[in-house]
Amino acid sequence: MSDFDEKDHDEDKEDLENIDGQEKETDQNKTESEDKKESEYEDVCFICRRPESKTGKMFKLPNHITVCNDCMHKTMDTVSQFDYQGMLNNPGFMDDLNKNMNGKGYPNIRFVNITDLQGEGGIPNKQRVKKKKAKTGEEPVLDIRNIPPPHKIKAQLDDYVIGQEHAKKVISVAVYNHYKRVATGTMDDIEIEKSNMLMIGPTGCGKTYLVKTLARLLDVPLAIADATSLTEAGYIGDDIESVISKLLAAADNDTEKAERGIVFIDEIDKIAKKKNTSSRDVSGESVQQGLLRLLEGADVEVPVGANSKNAMVPLTTINTRNILFICGGAFPDLEEIIKQRLKKQTSIGFNAELKDKFDKEKNILSQVTVEDLKKFGMIPEFLGRLPVIYTLAALDKPMLVKILKEPKNAILKQYQKLLELDEVKLEFDDGALEAIAEKAMEKDTGARALRAIIEEFMLDIMYEIPKDDNIGRVVITREYIEGTGGPVIDIRSVSGENPDHLNAIEDKTER
Ligand code: ADP
Repeated sequence: MSDFDEKDHDEDKEDLENIDGQEKETDQNKTESEDKKESEYEDVCFICRRPESKTGKMFKLPNHITVCNDCMHKTMDTVSQFDYQGMLNNPGFMDDLNKNMNGKGYPNIRFVNITDLQGEGGIPNKQRVKKKKAKTGEEPVLDIRNIPPPHKIKAQLDDYVIGQEHAKKVISVAVYNHYKRVATGTMDDIEIEKSNMLMIGPTGCGKTYLVKTLARLLDVPLAIADATSLTEAGYIGDDIESVISKLLAAADNDTEKAERGIVFIDEIDKIAKKKNTSSRDVSGESVQQGLLRLLEGADVEVPVGANSKNAMVPLTTINTRNILFICGGAFPDLEEIIKQRLKKQTSIGFNAELKDKFDKEKNILSQVTVEDLKKFGMIPEFLGRLPVIYTLAALDKPMLVKILKEPKNAILKQYQKLLELDEVKLEFDDGALEAIAEKAMEKDTGARALRAIIEEFMLDIMYEIPKDDNIGRVVITREYIEGTGGPVIDIRSVSGENPDHLNAIEDKTER
C-alpha cells in the first residue's frame, strides 16, 4: 500500500470514528437533557417515600425506581435467600420464575415484577419536591433594588382594583417592607418584624381579589385557604398545616419559592372563640392557637402533593419565616361591638352626645381597634401576630359602575371582546350600567353579584347575535336590564355610515 493509500485509509477510519463519536455524543446529550429534566425534582425512596435530602444517596434501579440505603438493606435482609443481585441484573428473572413455578403446579400464582407496576418516572412529579438549588454566591433571592416602591405597587393595583384607596396604600407599604425584609435577612442588629395583615371588609368588596392581583403582580406563589375548613390536627377537617401544603403546590413543589409566597386565609372571623361552649373548640380557638406558630415563623413538615400526611406521601420541611400571611374576614357583628364602645365613650359626662349618632354613620368598621377584635373572639396572641390591620369599604353604586367598565379585565370589556370576534360592537348606555349596579346592591354581596346579573341577560344576546351576520351593533339599555324593553340592535349599514338613530345613541353613551 502506498503512503497515499495508507493516509486515505486512515482518514476513512477517522471519519467513521467521528460519525460514531457524534452519535455517541448526541446520545449522551439526550440522556443528559433527560437527566436535567429529571434532576429538577428530588428523588423519592420508592419504599419509604422520603426524599433524597432526608435519606442520603439513593440506589438507582431500572425504570427510574430509587430506593434509599435503609430500605435497600432491609429488603436485602428479607430476601437474602433470593439471588437478588441476579434478579436485578436480569430483567427476565421474574418471567423465568413464573414459568418455573407454573411448571411445578402453581398455575394461579404469579410473582409480580415490581417494575411492571411502575410507569416511566416512578413516583409522579406531583408528589416530589424540587431540589434545592446550589447556592450561587451570596445573592439574595429577591434583589432589594428590584422590589417596586409602594407607589408603583399601588399604581399597578389601581389598574385592577377600583376604590379601596386606603387598603391599597396599606397593602403596598406592607408588602414592600415585607419583601425588603426577606431580601436583606436581618438589618444589622435590628430584626424587622413580619408584616402579616388582617383585612376586614364586607363580602364581595375585593379582599381576595386584591391579594390575588398582588400575588400575580409580584409573581409569587399564592395559597388561598378557607379558615372554616381548618380544624385542630386529628379532627375531621383540614390540618392547619395544609395551607402550607397548598402553597407548595402553588409554587410547583419548589420549596424555596414557597418560602417567600403569600398565604391568604379567608373567613378568619369564623374561627373566633366560641362563646359559652362546654365542648372542646376544635375549629375556633384551637385553630387560632395552631396558626400562631405558622404566622410567626416555624419549620413545618408538610406532605408533598397531598393535603394530609399519610404513609404514602413524601414529606418536606418548609420554613414559614418569610411567608406573608394575610387574613381576611367580614366580621359581621363587629360593627355592633364598635358602636357600643363608641357610645360608652361619649355617653358619659357633660359632652354626652346623642346615642344614635353612630347608628347612622356609614363606615363604622374603619374605627376598629384591637380591643374590639378581642371582644369579637380573636385571641390576643393571634392579633399580636397580625400587626397590620385595615378595613375595606362596602362598595356603593358609583363604585360598582366603575368596576363594570374600568378595570383592565372588566366584565364588560370581556363581553365586548367576545362579540368583537363576531365583528359586532357591544355597547352599554349609562342607564344600563346604573340599573345593573342597582340590582347588584339589592343582592348585598358586593361586586360578586355583578357577574351573575350580567350573565343572566347576556345569555340571550350571546345566543341570538351570532345567528344573524347582518347585525353590526348592539346597545344594551336600562329597559332591557329591567325587563321592560329590548336592546337596540343595528344592522350593518352597507354604505358604512351609521343610521341617524344610532348616532343619537352614540352621543348618549359618550356623555
Ligand atoms: P371578598 O371581599 O368577599 O373576598 P372578592 O375579592 O372575592 O370578594 O370579590 C369578588 C369579585 O368582585 C372579584 O373577583 C372581582 O372581580 C370583583 N371585585 C370586588 N371588588 C372589586 C374592586 N374593588 N375592584 C374591582 N373588582 C372588584
